[in-house]
Amino acid sequence: MSTANAPASSRVLLCRQCDRLMTLPQRAPGESAHCPRCHHHVAPAAQRDVQRTLAWALAAAIMLGLVFAFDFLSFSTRGIGHTMSFLDAAQSLLGYHYPSLAILLLATTVGLPALYLFALIYLCLGVRAGARLPGAIVLARILRPLEPWLMSDVFIVGVLVALIKIIALADIHIGASFIAFCVYSLLLIRTFTLVDWITLWDGIAPQGVLDAHVVARLDYERSGESQRLMVCHACDTPFLINPAHRCPRCRKRHWSHGADRVQLTWALLVAALILYIPANVYPILSTVTLGEAEPQTIIGGVVHLAAAGSWPIALVIFVASIVVPISKIVAMAWLCLAAQFGWYRNALDKTRLYRITEKIGRWSMIDVFVVAILGSLVQAGALMAIHPGPAALSFAAVVVITMIAALTFDTRLLWRPADHSDSNPRFRPDHPVAPE
Ligand SMILES: [Zn+2]
Ligand SMILES: [Zn+2]
Repeated sequence: MSTANAPASSRVLLCRQCDRLMTLPQRAPGESAHCPRCHHHVAPAAQRDVQRTLAWALAAAIMLGLVFAFDFLSFSTRGIGHTMSFLDAAQSLLGYHYPSLAILLLATTVGLPALYLFALIYLCLGVRAGARLPGAIVLARILRPLEPWLMSDVFIVGVLVALIKIIALADIHIGASFIAFCVYSLLLIRTFTLVDWITLWDGIAPQGVLDAHVVARLDYERSGESQRLMVCHACDTPFLINPAHRCPRCRKRHWSHGADRVQLTWALLVAALILYIPANVYPILSTVTLGEAEPQTIIGGVVHLAAAGSWPIALVIFVASIVVPISKIVAMAWLCLAAQFGWYRNALDKTRLYRITEKIGRWSMIDVFVVAILGSLVQAGALMAIHPGPAALSFAAVVVITMIAALTFDTRLLWRPADHSDSNPRFRPDHPVAPE
């Protein structure tokens, strides 16, 4: 949004978490910026060009290809063995008639990450060549919201938990594909910490949406909403609220501030709470030993692990499957109440609580991944087998729905709308952005 008369070295930004207006000075390479009021990361570490991001994304994509070239894990007990590839984990879920779980597993561990990596490579190549590639704006718009759904790191923890659970029962061998998966996961994490969205968007769609007279009238002590400004969640451009609620730069449609949004979050939280009941009542997996099935609920699994002396793993499952979902629902309900009733005290603490809730929610998926791995790996005929149970489906739904609930919540509702009474002494409207 470069502003026709603003100095070329600075630009107007609007914090998407507290609606504070600020200017962003020119960032030196490696310098990032935070909102001075809510400490939201408004600008990532500046990159000189897209070369580094491109190199890491290419390396991650190549490693992802290698995941499918070798065996993932192998298992043997009393002479009966079974080797699985990465795709077998999804295939066995299909075999147990859980197609939605198979799709969720493939999408979060390889499908969406592959889309993310290839789209990013395409965008970086376009920006590097200075070319306007077809579809670049649409791709850039969907990439950032994908980031919480890339769960290869959660999957690795799930595999490790699954292996520790069965290591006493059988011989386990780690295949080259698992090593490739770990390397791919590290490269993927490094790639999305490197993406400088501000520079990338400047290369994809040059700015120019705020008129000079609007910029000249901006009051940096007031919220964006009170000046009819809104921030685009895809390209971070502030724009004047228009009847279509579309960002003029990338055409993404936006929700306005309002209570209807809180109702949506409430509805999702209630749905998650209802689904959490079958997730705990029904077995999440059942172990069949010599024809005898032993179903196990989430709590039963934790107790079983603790009784067997695997305290660290019992603790991981307890935190990921019980503590995290419940505290997430309680925290989000508290934030919805605060937004609805205008409890503006300690807005910074509430915003921090929101960020923690948003960050940790995806780790609850560990137990679903454990079930997928055990179900496809432990296949020794009548001797021993593990089947996924119906609770895996409802538990996965709880995790996905609570993640969507967190994403639908608008943290700007936690902050006083007028902003003139900001009591935070650290806030300096004339130096709004402090480089990291
Ligand atoms: Zn802020
Ligand atoms: Zn936009």
